[in-house]
Amino acid sequence: PILLEMRSITKEFPGVKALSDVNLVVRAGEIHAICGENGAGKSTLMKVLSGVYPYGAYSGDIVYHGAEARFSDIRQSERAGIVIIHQELALIPDMSITENIFLGNEPRKRGAIDWKGAQRRALELMARVGLDEDPDTLIKDIGVGKQQLVEIAKAFAKDVKLLILDEPTAALNEHDSQHLLDLLRGFRERGVTSIMISHKLNEIEAIADEITILRDGRTVETLNIKRDGVDEDRIVRGMVGRELGSR
Ligand code: ADP
Ligand code: MG
Ligand code: MG
Repeated sequence: PILLEMRSITKEFPGVKALSDVNLVVRAGEIHAICGENGAGKSTLMKVLSGVYPYGAYSGDIVYHGAEARFSDIRQSERAGIVIIHQELALIPDMSITENIFLGNEPRKRGAIDWKGAQRRALELMARVGLDEDPDTLIKDIGVGKQQLVEIAKAFAKDVKLLILDEPTAALNEHDSQHLLDLLRGFRERGVTSIMISHKLNEIEAIADEITILRDGRTVETLNIKRDGVDEDRIVRGMVGRELGSR
């Protein structure tokens, strides 16, 4: 079944048409890759989906779980289970892993923050993403690969159903990238749907079910990777809009 349909999405900034009639269909339980050159509109499309740009600031329709979604901010999309992890991580360097995981959604006991409960829950979430650290460690004292895992643990604290990752492995080394990809595979086993922005064809081939290609703010096509494989020439031609030899 289809989980998400974005129909004819258009988004303009002063002097820039970032998205023109973009369509995206994501099936429940799949890993859907979005790829395109820098400036193609990938991040903007995901910001429209997650309410960073609210209803009214773009045109077109979003149908999620069979109903029209009109998010007025990111809190609303999170309540619907849509969680976005941006290219620039949104963690607070001088706060601990636990504090970052629960920032803005602390477990509460009769109005007061239940700190013991938060730490216990943080450890559970950290175990789920394979993060083996003291939960009191400050964010600034762990590497970027582990910071990315804290962001994912934070998504699970919010009961994520659709996880959006914007170039999640761009700053990661080979080992941390591999761990992240394994994690995403595991989430799929448990029914989480993911959208991953990436231009690394090897990692798309390793985990994605489908890939949507964007170019200059337009949808080029969606390919089914399990069926068609990763046709590198076709994908790259879609991204740049011309034969490779004729740059
Ligand atoms: P991608 O993520 O594919 O690299 P973006 O979605 O970030 O592309 O950007 C698409 C286009 O919209 C680019 O031309 C970019 O400069 C422009 N753009 C993105 N965000 C803004 C913004 N907040 N204000 C003005 N222009 C923007
Ligand atoms: Mg970019
Ligand atoms: Mg981007």
